[in-house]
Amino acid sequence: MSALLELLNVSKHFKVDSGLLGLKSDFVRAVDGVTLDVRKGETLGLVGESGCGKSTLARCIMGLNGVTSGEILFRGRSLATWEEKRLRRHMQMIFQDPYSSLNPRQKIGSIIREGLDIHEIGTPAERKAKVEELLGLVGLRPEHASRYPHEFSGGQRQRVAVARTLALDPQLIVCDEPVSALDVSVQAQVLTMLKHLQKRFDLTYVFISHDLAVVSHISDRVAVMYLGRIMELSPSETLFATPRHPYTEALLSAVLSPDPTDRAERIALTGDLPSPMNPPTGCPFHPRCPKAFEKCPNARPELKEIEPGVRVACWLY
Ligand code: SF4
Repeated sequence: MSALLELLNVSKHFKVDSGLLGLKSDFVRAVDGVTLDVRKGETLGLVGESGCGKSTLARCIMGLNGVTSGEILFRGRSLATWEEKRLRRHMQMIFQDPYSSLNPRQKIGSIIREGLDIHEIGTPAERKAKVEELLGLVGLRPEHASRYPHEFSGGQRQRVAVARTLALDPQLIVCDEPVSALDVSVQAQVLTMLKHLQKRFDLTYVFISHDLAVVSHISDRVAVMYLGRIMELSPSETLFATPRHPYTEALLSAVLSPDPTDRAERIALTGDLPSPMNPPTGCPFHPRCPKAFEKCPNARPELKEIEPGVRVACWLY
């Protein structure tokens, strides 16, 4: 599979005023040198603790945050130089909160049609027909077009958000915690719908979630983020069966197995996530790593391939 999206050493640092009268400046390294490829037709899961930089990375991909350094390529062309408006049509985003991501004063039909109106695609009759088709694709009915968001449940609103993203025939959809705000039973329905739509339209997803069960269910490959960096990138099955990076091991061991015979030892992560304003030297995970050794605080391990398809940033490999 060829890469649809490539991130080349992408960083995003936010300036923060500090010190007396705010005269000193520090930088929050929200994303710090991420190199990643997303292959056409796959779902790349992005996991990590809250504050690890995964949502900032999503916003960088979508152009909602400019990058501090590095480059993002879509279909082999730089997002910084190609005509943005044309390119952005092929990249859409689904947000976590279906309550705040839809304008409460706009009817559902108008919300879904907005992209078509902005890009002046089709006649009014064709746009109306497209909205009805999209509502059908996400399991809603044509008459829902004349209703307002408050008349829908959380799951239905997220379906509307998905219909809106599909209006412009995207190739890539960045899903930022798309089911986290939904009940567990509704989560499964929305995930099934996303998989079905992916197959039908050959969509590529970047799927961000803190919920490892959800990520394992939907992802082909998974990238694990810590303090703005990728710690491990592996095929989903491999990562969940044999995690290589000590941080991935700790994350997975914290998830309770439904199987009472599964007595895998829990690895307690000691200490809080360090501040991205002042990240640890060497391996950023070393203050919390149960396997840290002499070299770890002194040199930063790069993400490298340790076997076909498995990339890890750790001095153990
Ligand atoms: Fe732990 Fe060292 Fe590997 Fe970092 S490089 S994860 S501190 S063993």
